[in-house]
Amino acid sequence: MCGIVGIYSRKPEITTEIAYCALFALQHRGQESAGIAISDSEKIRVYKGMGLITRVLTPKVLKKLGSGNIAIGHVRYSTTGESKLENAQPLLVRSKVGSIAVAHNGNLVNYWDLRNALESEGRAFLTDSDTEIIAQLLSAILLENDIVDALKILDSKLIGSYALVILYNNTLIAYRDPHGIRPLCVGEADFGYVIASESCAIDSTGGELIRDVRPGEAVIIQDGEIEFVKINRCRRKAFCVFEYIYFARPDSVVDGRSVYTVRHSIGRVLARESAVEADMVSPVPDSGTTSAIGFSEESGIPYLEALIKNRYVGRTFIMPEQWLREQSVRLKMNVVRENVRDKRVILVDDSIVRGTTSRKIVDMVRDAGAKKVHFRVGSPPIISPCYMGIDMSTKKELIASSRSVKEIQEIINADSLSYLSLNGLLKAVGADEKELCLACLTGNYPVRVPGEELRH
Ligand code: SF4
Repeated sequence: MCGIVGIYSRKPEITTEIAYCALFALQHRGQESAGIAISDSEKIRVYKGMGLITRVLTPKVLKKLGSGNIAIGHVRYSTTGESKLENAQPLLVRSKVGSIAVAHNGNLVNYWDLRNALESEGRAFLTDSDTEIIAQLLSAILLENDIVDALKILDSKLIGSYALVILYNNTLIAYRDPHGIRPLCVGEADFGYVIASESCAIDSTGGELIRDVRPGEAVIIQDGEIEFVKINRCRRKAFCVFEYIYFARPDSVVDGRSVYTVRHSIGRVLARESAVEADMVSPVPDSGTTSAIGFSEESGIPYLEALIKNRYVGRTFIMPEQWLREQSVRLKMNVVRENVRDKRVILVDDSIVRGTTSRKIVDMVRDAGAKKVHFRVGSPPIISPCYMGIDMSTKKELIASSRSVKEIQEIINADSLSYLSLNGLLKAVGADEKELCLACLTGNYPVRVPGEELRH
């Protein structure tokens, strides 16, 4: 789960600022590193660093990056490749065809196959990120092919999820894998075009969403002209259902649906499926908020906040190390004692991954005087790892992979625990299961995944 943006701007002097605004709207998708690459038709300049956008892309850095008509940007949280500066993006490669900068959201499941094959041809790698594989392959293919054919050949070699923005010869290219696993959309503004992981990034530049990039489709912007080109047929769409449950911002429209509306419906369906007597419904902030509102409306139980989030602490789930995750729960939120004292509290959260956060939250609410703490989850149990770009990549990390709901209830110390059913989730999203990736909930992967033991 990273955030990517691509900007075509007719106002070269503000292109980096536009890219900054769009990236800033996507900070929730990755907090480990940030970067921007800009092209002024002669050369590509890149700046990237570790940490939040405000720390990395300072006004001084933006000024130094200078002007240009096209830029791409990236915020990262790591899946393949460690959390270190060399793996930050955009990634720049120089070859006989010129310079190519790539920003990638997703994860290649055949990373090691591709890397071994390229290394046996004598290629060296500077990073352990799968994005370098994409950049190197593309630069080699472009030696003998135009952009459209190069994308077709590249696509035939990649397995996994890959939403891409690419800077090449003063052309902005975006491509979404044929399963459409990760989101990518295009918008238009008075200065030009914005391509981004989520529509909230387009909104932040003052632009308007045109539409999603379709699975297997490329967007090519050259000299201000935009072209949509079908590169590969979408045999089976598999949009990540967790974009709706957790990742995307509620004010975004992703893959044609309002994230807010889906989360609100999740809360309503959850209330119908797992009613319980209580005095109040509270979200686990922030991602449980919209579902808790829906739950409260459907059940008639008052909405009242049990927990307040410290706005200056990032999401726990996307902190790469367990120790950091554990420390950050108490830093992240605190209980409103007056609201929960002597009450039967329903806590609504979007999902349970490892269970460590849920246990701490239940204990905090109980210690503050709640009589009962019921836990409701806006997704079915996560039972399988994600190989398509989300950091929950081994089964043993997942609390529900080998435990019953009753066992999890005991571990998190709740008086009752209920998850949303799979059918309930599909109803709330308003999609057929053939349109979505549900692999972490069902174990059925949309792409062939080489053996887990090989990857880990
Ligand atoms: S496995 Fe789960 S988190 Fe990963 S892409 Fe599929 S639905 Fe999304």
